[in-house]
Amino acid sequence: MQHSDLKVHQLLLGPMENYCYIIADKASKKCMVIDPAWDIKTITDTIEQNEYQLTSIIISHYHPDHCGGHLWGHDIEGVSELLKKFDVPVLCHSQEKDGILTITKIAPSGIQTIESGEDYQLGNQKLKFIHTPGHTPGSVCLLWNNCLFAGDTLFINGCGRVDLPGGNVDQLHDSLTNKLMKLDPQTVLYPGHAYAPQKSVTFQELLTLNPYLQNITNKTSWMKNFG
Ligand SMILES: [Zn+2]
Repeated sequence: MQHSDLKVHQLLLGPMENYCYIIADKASKKCMVIDPAWDIKTITDTIEQNEYQLTSIIISHYHPDHCGGHLWGHDIEGVSELLKKFDVPVLCHSQEKDGILTITKIAPSGIQTIESGEDYQLGNQKLKFIHTPGHTPGSVCLLWNNCLFAGDTLFINGCGRVDLPGGNVDQLHDSLTNKLMKLDPQTVLYPGHAYAPQKSVTFQELLTLNPYLQNITNKTSWMKNFG
């Protein structure tokens, strides 16, 4: 994906159709990785072939398909393998730290916690973290200009499950209505899974594509989506 100042590599990795993102400031070649899992060689090769300097790793939430670990019979490589190659901080929300430590077994000293609204400087680019609890308590999205990297909070044709440990349907409704739906309609959603034919769409387009956003202003009716 091409944006004027930022290069977005959207890597489709693993049997659960996860998207890992490498985003790079074109001028400085500094980059960060969002949700490294399943295929660390492809991630490492992309960084090296583009001569990027990796500055940090961001984990949107603690589920092993986003950061590595053991899930449903899969041993998934992830952040701990990437850290063997690159000595960089791992960023996550404070409420997600314990889950990530348990799942990935990385050293606590390697994690830097982030709070909602906090800025992160990637070379010349400023990014913002948005805390979007609901799928998990410490789920975060990352906003750069009008690009949103949403983890499992929002997909093109759905939204995050709330039936896994830490899931909360009231929090998800609040995150979607009061945080994500308030973004500029031209904001482009980059989801954490390839569950739709489109790789990325604007929020304007989401209003027609995503059934979970169509009745969201009526919370009682919206809750029926979750049975
Ligand atoms: Zn998840």
